Amino acid sequence: MLDSPPMDASDALRILDEEEGRGAQAFRAATTLDELEAAQVTVLGRKAPFSEVQRALGAMSEEDRRSLGKAVNETRSALEAALAGRRAELEGEAETALLEADLVDLTLPGRRLREGSLHPLTLVENEIVDVFMRLGFTVVEGPEVEDDWHNFQALNIPPDHPARTMKDSIYPSVPGRPDLVLRTETSAAQIRTMQSQEPPVYVVHPGRVYRRETPDATHLPVFHQVECLAVDEGITFADLKGTLEAMARALFGEGRRVRLAPSFFPFVEPGAQVEVSCFKCDGVGCVVCGNGWIEMLGAGMVHPVVLENCGYDSERYTGFAFGMGIERVALLRYGIPDMRLLVDTDARVLAQFGAVA
Ligand SMILES: [Zn+2]
Repeated sequence: MLDSPPMDASDALRILDEEEGRGAQAFRAATTLDELEAAQVTVLGRKAPFSEVQRALGAMSEEDRRSLGKAVNETRSALEAALAGRRAELEGEAETALLEADLVDLTLPGRRLREGSLHPLTLVENEIVDVFMRLGFTVVEGPEVEDDWHNFQALNIPPDHPARTMKDSIYPSVPGRPDLVLRTETSAAQIRTMQSQEPPVYVVHPGRVYRRETPDATHLPVFHQVECLAVDEGITFADLKGTLEAMARALFGEGRRVRLAPSFFPFVEPGAQVEVSCFKCDGVGCVVCGNGWIEMLGAGMVHPVVLENCGYDSERYTGFAFGMGIERVALLRYGIPDMRLLVDTDARVLAQFGAVA
């Protein structure tokens, strides 16, 4: 530029005229905002001919400067208007493109949310608890870490009782508390309930219990029970049988029959092993049951010693109790061949059960 001859007024006017046309064309030719910005630099930037005209003004006569100054302003206004117009167009297009990319096709089918499902043990537990709620029982809970008295002694299992060796309990190591045990039966909760209230008592207690077992198809070291306890004046074995029948029918269908065989549990007298007529073969005999009957649970009339241990008058009150393994009911209900499937957390197994209620 240093070598260029000084610009005179007519050169300047010609350049302004050219630049107005060239600029308008360059802005129109831009198809994106980036291209428009580049065009702006070439038309209005510091090194653009238009800017050279502006700079040349300073060296001109005052008369030229006045007339040319007006032309410069007009050209700048025209270029800026063209630039703003094109920018508005391009911004509008960009917005439309964004909207189009974002368009929702209302005819598309909805995306299904994956629904969770309740664990089969929860389903069975809920069902059992529902049966007893309808019979007027209430649900109570107790601690899983019990002391020796609640888990054994109060249930008529003194320290030298052979039932203790039958159980193979799990003892947590808590310094200074050698009496603590992970409860081996939900029966421990019976004791706490009776200690905390006067008869009549009608409670069910669902919960986890612990035994020193090696997991196999029919055993788990941690499993679930539902304990049922009724204590009132005049409760008899017939009440126990009627309650068991109501439960068996609710769980395994109308027409189920219940039979009891004498059995021994330290905390009941008399005690019974309860069998339910098979829901598959109705007592004829099949692969599920073998001889037509399915062993369900242990039950009995609450031992007078247990009542007295809890401060109840065993002359005035009688009661029945039974405890049932929830895993066992789930296996029967759903035809699950191996108890370990219930705790393997395999989503393919669990997904086969009912949706969340
Ligand atoms: Zn059968």
